[in-house]
Amino acid sequence: MVYLTENYNNIQKRILATCQRCDRKPEEITLLGVTKTIDEKIVNASIGLGIANIGENKPQEIKRKYDLIDKDVKWHMIGHLQSNKVKMILDKVSLIHSLDRLSLLNEIEKRAKMTEQTVEALIQVNIGDEFQKSGIASDALETLIEAVSKCRYIRVKGLMCIAPYFDNPEDVRPFFKKMKNIFDTVRKIEYNNVKMQILSMGMSHDFEIAIEEGATLIRVGTGLYGARNY
Ligand SMILES: *Cc1c(COP(=O)(O)O)cnc(C)c1O
Repeated sequence: MVYLTENYNNIQKRILATCQRCDRKPEEITLLGVTKTIDEKIVNASIGLGIANIGENKPQEIKRKYDLIDKDVKWHMIGHLQSNKVKMILDKVSLIHSLDRLSLLNEIEKRAKMTEQTVEALIQVNIGDEFQKSGIASDALETLIEAVSKCRYIRVKGLMCIAPYFDNPEDVRPFFKKMKNIFDTVRKIEYNNVKMQILSMGMSHDFEIAIEEGATLIRVGTGLYGARNY
């Protein structure tokens, strides 16, 4: 799988170059491999190359692939999460990126209580106010965070966004800037169960801009694994 090694090296090189350009440390950036539709053998090969975190957007896929994938990897739930699917993934994922509403928070809290586990999550913000995208509106974020602070089993570690798509990735910069601003604002306030450490933003075509604007975790699918066959 020569192409995989080449893609992996290419992404790593670009992360490094971007960090140098904006005076950040490459260790601050987590590269999440987005493995949706990708065959288990290829996912395992990427773990062999150094991918330590993988993300899927469907609970059913996490469940199906879980035992086929190398155990030395952390799983991330990055897609819209229906409340009735929470129980399917709670014992498998290290981080849920898509906490975006009170009903989901309540379901996670309820399920986590049953199994006595703490659950780490990011709050997904609909930073472009796009009606077709999940994520909480930025002006409703505080209410959700206050609800989190009253929970027992959930720990919010940061924020995530899926930015609007532009042909020219430079156009997305204002949205990443806005996310970083919200992130920094929340970070300065002390809430129980909330610690702003992870800013999950940037995908294959805009991760360099995201790093420049403060991302600590980038989610890369096609850039690593090639085009997806649905
Ligand atoms: C598919 C997906 C990605 C990766 O997208 P690419 O453009 O293939 O890098 C990142 N984040 C989420 C939430 C996704 O669903």
